Amino acid sequence: MLYMIIKIHLINNQVGKIYFTCSFDDGHVADLRLAELLAEFNVKATFYIPRTCEWCSANLAENEIRTLSELHEVGGHTMTHPILTKVSYRQARAEIFDCKQWLEDVTGKAIRSFCPPVGRFSKEHIALQREAGFTSMRTVEMLTHSMDSVKKVRDFVILPTTCQVYNHSNMSYLKNNMKRMKFVSYLSALRLFDSNWEAMSRNFLHFLYSISLTQQEDHYFHLWGHSWELSQFSLWQSLERFFKSLQEIGGFVFLDNSMLAELVRQKNPDVMNAY
Ligand SMILES: [Zn+2]
Repeated sequence: MLYMIIKIHLINNQVGKIYFTCSFDDGHVADLRLAELLAEFNVKATFYIPRTCEWCSANLAENEIRTLSELHEVGGHTMTHPILTKVSYRQARAEIFDCKQWLEDVTGKAIRSFCPPVGRFSKEHIALQREAGFTSMRTVEMLTHSMDSVKKVRDFVILPTTCQVYNHSNMSYLKNNMKRMKFVSYLSALRLFDSNWEAMSRNFLHFLYSISLTQQEDHYFHLWGHSWELSQFSLWQSLERFFKSLQEIGGFVFLDNSMLAELVRQKNPDVMNAY
């Protein structure tokens, strides 16, 4: 019923756009099932894939990565999935440069997006990504949605996320935002919290709809996660139900991470937020 009301509003009154993007990390074999599910609902995504990963059992084979790249964007996630802030500059440089070359050889496509393992990075890692030729980086910051607040280092775009396909506690979101001194993001999202990821995401989308009716400003919803967690925590059904409801509502612009970054770059070419 709520969605029906929203749909009518979207068709008649929506003044701001809502961009919808997804990203999934670690290159588990379950990514193939996920890629097909996303394609079924015309949802675009970016898959961040390391060559090897100590704790990621069942990595995709190279031919499977090639298959996946025909449906969605593939992004760099280092070669061996180290925490970049815990390795030497020399290793971090090799991890960033080599994963781009490796994925370009595997997919035959330009690789533009990067995601640092467990979201840990420093300014020098941003510089290395730019030097390697990446044009955007996804972080693990959550609860963000304003296109205008996406940070850039010159034309390099730093994309935070909104919600994770994972049942987080309120405390997890609090810690996620506090670590980054994002008190405003946390407080403004406080009334949207739900320990069920699907309910939380729907609350967030409802909030974005309501502001899209009155504000010219465009917003995004960035859903991220790990395909292996979908199996481990029995989340496949809820994800399928969520995508189905997106299709029924309509009114979204579906983009992969690079497309969203490009839009941010073009939308505010003169804004150079220092990171
Ligand atoms: Zn990872």
